[in-house]
Amino acid sequence: MQIKLLHDLVEEMANEGTGRIVDILFRKKDVNEFTIAKKMNLTINQVRNILYKLSADGLVSFIRKKDKRKGWYIYYWTLKTEKCLEKLEQSLLSKIKDFKNILGNRETKRYYVCKSCNIEVTEEKALENGFTCEECAEVYELSDNSGSIRETKTIITKTEKDLALIVNELSTVREKDKKKRKRADKKEQKEVDAQKKILRTARAVARKKIAESKKKPVKKKVSKTEKKPVKKKVSKVKKTKKKK
Ligand SMILES: [Zn+2]
Repeated sequence: MQIKLLHDLVEEMANEGTGRIVDILFRKKDVNEFTIAKKMNLTINQVRNILYKLSADGLVSFIRKKDKRKGWYIYYWTLKTEKCLEKLEQSLLSKIKDFKNILGNRETKRYYVCKSCNIEVTEEKALENGFTCEECAEVYELSDNSGSIRETKTIITKTEKDLALIVNELSTVREKDKKKRKRADKKEQKEVDAQKKILRTARAVARKKIAESKKKPVKKKVSKTEKKPVKKKVSKVKKTKKKK
């Protein structure tokens, strides 16, 4: 993972100086927020503020556990690698777009500068001001765009390299994730198959039992009809009752 890039991204999203949180969370799981606060030398609320900002974009996730002794919840945080890379990809793409815009303007448009105030304006603005500086009334000079064209090109090249790294890393992470999911699916399928087998066996046993229980009553009926003397006994009892 390009930690430095992620560092910068976090600072863009949640204030300067917050990037250190990446170092603390990187390659860890469920980091206690009190540990983070201690390491960053911040209060628990400051740490939570940073993490809430990051979690709004899905860059971190949390679980919470109740502290039995104190009775409040403690949050445990995890950096979401894939989401971070996706966000980095987006951010770099938009930076490249912005810098290409700047480059296009520098290549096609004229800019004017007041050398004593060190202020640069667009041609439209210079025209509006009658080609004299708004601040000191000095006459504007035509800007030399070659420097900023060179600089912007360098930045674009660097940003594109960073983007390539991120895209590459993202595809590795996704590939790993895919394999992991495949393994999980296979395992799940095996469990489903095993359960089906158990169910099939159970059904077969049940069917057998039902079949056996259907046969038994038939045998009993037969035995009852065979034991006709029972009725005679009953009648004898009845007779004795009548005698009473
Ligand atoms: Zn000026």
